[in-house]
Amino acid sequence: MQHSTDDRGPTADGNPDKPYVGRFAPTPSGPLHLGSLLTAAASWLQARAHGGRWLLRIDDLDRPRCPAGMDTVILQQLEAHGLVWDGEPRYQTACQAEYDEALENLSTAGLTYPCSCTRARLQETSLPGPDGPVYDRHCHLHPPPRGRPLALRLRVGEGLLHFTDRWQGEQRRQVESEVGDFVLRRSDGMTGYQLACAVDEQRQGITEVVRGSDLLGSTFRQRLLTQRLGWQAPAYAHGPLLLGDDGLKLSKQNHAAPLRADEAGPNLWHCLQALRQEPPSSLQGAAPAEILAWGLAHWRPEALIAAPPRKVETN
Ligand SMILES: [Zn+2]
Repeated sequence: MQHSTDDRGPTADGNPDKPYVGRFAPTPSGPLHLGSLLTAAASWLQARAHGGRWLLRIDDLDRPRCPAGMDTVILQQLEAHGLVWDGEPRYQTACQAEYDEALENLSTAGLTYPCSCTRARLQETSLPGPDGPVYDRHCHLHPPPRGRPLALRLRVGEGLLHFTDRWQGEQRRQVESEVGDFVLRRSDGMTGYQLACAVDEQRQGITEVVRGSDLLGSTFRQRLLTQRLGWQAPAYAHGPLLLGDDGLKLSKQNHAAPLRADEAGPNLWHCLQALRQEPPSSLQGAAPAEILAWGLAHWRPEALIAAPPRKVETN
């Protein structure tokens, strides 16, 4: 069965009847750093420039990775930087029933199968793909015996998935050979990131996802799930990343420094610069609200089209 679809989602530009809804979705495994602030600021500016809502989601499904109270730290960091969200934050851990329902629907449609493959087997047998390893479908061809906890995978089928990213342009993948059957629920029962994310965007009514270009590969999986669940996908805009001195993406894993409230102004100024908005240097000492107001008044998202990653300027 061939699935080919030009599933460009609704955007504020393309569908004026649908008001813009954006979001920021941090994982509370550690405090925000300059790289996460860049994503937060880009999505905030894009949402506000469209007169839209900006929602907050706490991606806390992987509980063991999320220290107690870290969500509060993140909310305080956002507030200190003047990035105020609309409504109550959505916590993934409070939404398990919604993920279970979506998984049930996929299973009822015959789109899932159990997988007993060990990490070692996957490392040995998976093929390299453009967005990570592609599963060899071993358990689809050789169903494992039931009776113990098994992971569940999506049977992706054949076809071409393509969409136009607002800033990265035309994107396409062969579903079977380049994406592959991926995990929807781990053997320990935890909902997979891709399924949770697809459900979250739908439930929050997100019209456009703005995030770092390191997540482009995930977008294919999430769009595929959205399609299989019969939903309309949001539009996507993948923006630039900040790189550390080692040339790698600034992240908690490589010990990026936590954002400090007393440096909120300079932090935001650096983000505007990394977003190629060319803020005047006179703005560098201004208060967060003033910097954001300038950023909003001068927002030029077209500067982000195919923008390469930027190194963090250390003072
Ligand atoms: Zn398997």
